[in-house]
Amino acid sequence: MRDPLAGIYVHIPFCVKKCGYCDFYSITRLDSIDEFVNALVSEIQLTAPAYASQRFDTIYVGGGTPSLLNISQLQTIWHCIHKHFNIQSEGEFTIEANPGTLDFVKSSFLRNLGFNRLSLGAQSFHQSDLSFLERIHSVEDIIKNFEASRKAGFENINIDLMTAFPHLSKDRFRDSLEQVITLQPEHISCYTLILEPNTKFYRRFQKGEFSPLNSDQEADYYEMTIEILDGAGYFAYEISNFTREKRWQCRHNMKYWNHVPYIGFGPSAHSFQSPCRWRNVQTLAAYVKNLNQGKLPVAQRENLSSQTLEFEYIFLHLRLRNGLNKLDYQQHFEKDFWNTYQERLQPFFSSGLMEQEGDFVRLSKRGWLLADEIVSSF
Ligand code: SF4
Repeated sequence: MRDPLAGIYVHIPFCVKKCGYCDFYSITRLDSIDEFVNALVSEIQLTAPAYASQRFDTIYVGGGTPSLLNISQLQTIWHCIHKHFNIQSEGEFTIEANPGTLDFVKSSFLRNLGFNRLSLGAQSFHQSDLSFLERIHSVEDIIKNFEASRKAGFENINIDLMTAFPHLSKDRFRDSLEQVITLQPEHISCYTLILEPNTKFYRRFQKGEFSPLNSDQEADYYEMTIEILDGAGYFAYEISNFTREKRWQCRHNMKYWNHVPYIGFGPSAHSFQSPCRWRNVQTLAAYVKNLNQGKLPVAQRENLSSQTLEFEYIFLHLRLRNGLNKLDYQQHFEKDFWNTYQERLQPFFSSGLMEQEGDFVRLSKRGWLLADEIVSSF
């Protein structure tokens, strides 16, 4: 293993209500949470022996809506991970929460338990957009939950916003960005809505109820995001992720982007240890059944070819502000990046979409607007 410090992801597959655009695995049968927690404990116990000499410095509890779990369920998960894995005390420990499922007591409990980063799924600061996205919360919930979490001692908070979705207007999006800035979170994630098959939104799109934005419209929203956040002191360290200071960059997500190993627990969770990627069974029923039989709930394992690993490495690194380090690339793939891709990339350099600085090759700010097209040339 190249990097000695790996990450742990826990997928909590429960939500109060399914949002129309969401294709993450989550269910609304909240009476199954205890059954899930028991199975999760078994999965952690069964998995841990293979990682006895591994150190971990990030835990990310996502979902779904982890903040729906009660105090005793969250305590069980936290203590089980710490009992079975070597977790560094100076780590980054994130929990996702949806507004409306948190209050001061729950936030204080999470902070005291040891979580030191909170990710709040706000998505918009306008009720009409929240209703369009079928979110359960109000704007007031976002502000109340944010302030309660600050008071509870969270000094590292991320706010998720959604951009470039049908129904959104530039004025409302600008206002949402300004309201986020007023709260001064340490980190802001801003993702474009993707119409995924098997979602209610996709079916509505097929019926002609709305259309996704075209790439020019998406680029307009992105330019607005960069301009407003940049003006407020937030820089993009990854295409969709902004922070005020380098120390608040999400260490766990950096592992995904840098091909550092991570283990995923819970239904549908993915794990990676080069060159292998594996994913768990998708449903809670299959997950519980496997674990009740004493089996790991892995549905699929794949050894990634060196070609796939290289493509992913380039794709993920070009999404980072620093870009791709040619020396690191050479160490990974035993070839010179520039000799391999110079001919293909020259047009992007000539047109100012890519740039070089020292050992780094990266997309320019203009290049970020066309990132998908540029990356597809590899
Ligand atoms: S709250 Fe999040 S995970 Fe749950 S349905 Fe909505 S988008 Fe999906």
